[in-house]
Amino acid sequence: MQRRRVLIVEDEQDVADLVKRAVERSGDVDTSIVGSGDAALKAVAERPHDLVLLDLNLPVLDGVEVCRILRSRPDTRHVPIIILTARAAEDDRVSGLELGADDYIVKPFSPRELSARIRALWRRIGPPAEVPLAAY
Ligand code: CA
Repeated sequence: MQRRRVLIVEDEQDVADLVKRAVERSGDVDTSIVGSGDAALKAVAERPHDLVLLDLNLPVLDGVEVCRILRSRPDTRHVPIIILTARAAEDDRVSGLELGADDYIVKPFSPRELSARIRALWRRIGPPAEVPLAAY
């Protein structure tokens, strides 16, 4: 089965490492980490991803903009997005979900809960598509 490709968008390296370990417990995945919003858009444009884990407080372009841009582009409109952020206010959570995020997790997060939520997402979206490499 094709491995799922997960992009972790997080500018704090220690948090990114914690997220990466939680993601790896969710199944057969390849993870990559970028530390800014513009790098996230570039990574998603270069290769299709099965999930984007998105911090909101990011340098250059913040996570809200990244989410908005991903949802506005036909080729990335359906990529699953989980927002993972220290912004816990109800307004932030509601606007994150209304921007099209699939889930919203507030930091400090439980790694066990994060991997459980990712596994729940994998169950909803089904097995990864077999995409011929030649398509890219
Ligand atoms: Ca941050």
